[in-house]
Amino acid sequence: MERIAICPGSFDPVTLGHVDIISRAAKMFDHVIVAVLINFSKKSPSFSIDERIDLLKRALHGINNVEVVGFNGLLADYAKERNALALVKGLRAVSDFEYEFQMALTNKILNPELETIFLTTSAQYMYLSSSFVKQVASLGGDISSFVPECILETVKDRLLHIYQ
Ligand code: ADP
Repeated sequence: MERIAICPGSFDPVTLGHVDIISRAAKMFDHVIVAVLINFSKKSPSFSIDERIDLLKRALHGINNVEVVGFNGLLADYAKERNALALVKGLRAVSDFEYEFQMALTNKILNPELETIFLTTSAQYMYLSSSFVKQVASLGGDISSFVPECILETVKDRLLHIYQ
């Protein structure tokens, strides 16, 4: 049986921290579904769902067992539908912990077969988030250490367009 995992997130936009977690998950599972949340609760996204999916596909080019999909609904149900064994999430500094713990326990009630696996962030990405990338770029800062090189110009242009 194929071992399938889901990496969910808003990816607004994808960062090197996300790529690190997804590529590590792709080594552990036969197939990884990157589920891009269409409507996420944080706030309205800066990048459209199509842009976020396109940036992810470009950033993950070369990892053959990864699929990128837009997603709306309950992850616990989607995991059942796709026969996924686990949700794989990245865990950064303490700030992620409480929310992720709550989500994992809720998903376990909704779908007891589904495991949530946390991968510890790589040290260099510990404080990296999409909102940090947006903040730095909007102030004209260099984001080349935070996003994959193949999408750098697109992300920079798009963020300048939003913030100026
Ligand atoms: P963000 O908080 O950057 O908006 P998302 O909601 O898109 O991120 O997060 C998707 C997943 O990627 C979550 O599991 C999140 O914890 C993880 N993640 C995001 N940034 C990093 C990072 N720098 N290191 C490890 N995991 C990360």
